[in-house]
Amino acid sequence: MSKVSAWHSKLPNDPRVYHNDTDCNTGNNIETENRVEGTGGRPLCAECAKLG
Ligand SMILES: [Zn+2]
Repeated sequence: MSKVSAWHSKLPNDPRVYHNDTDCNTGNNIETENRVEGTGGRPLCAECAKLG
């Protein structure tokens, strides 16, 4: 697992969660330009939680 600083997507159609693991497919699918640093006050992504 690779824990990094939290990020989330700024796209309204994406799941309202944040990611903190570089092995997360959902998190990796967020285009770099659509990533926002921090949790955004959202819950942790289920896939990241499993990885972590
Ligand atoms: Zn995730």
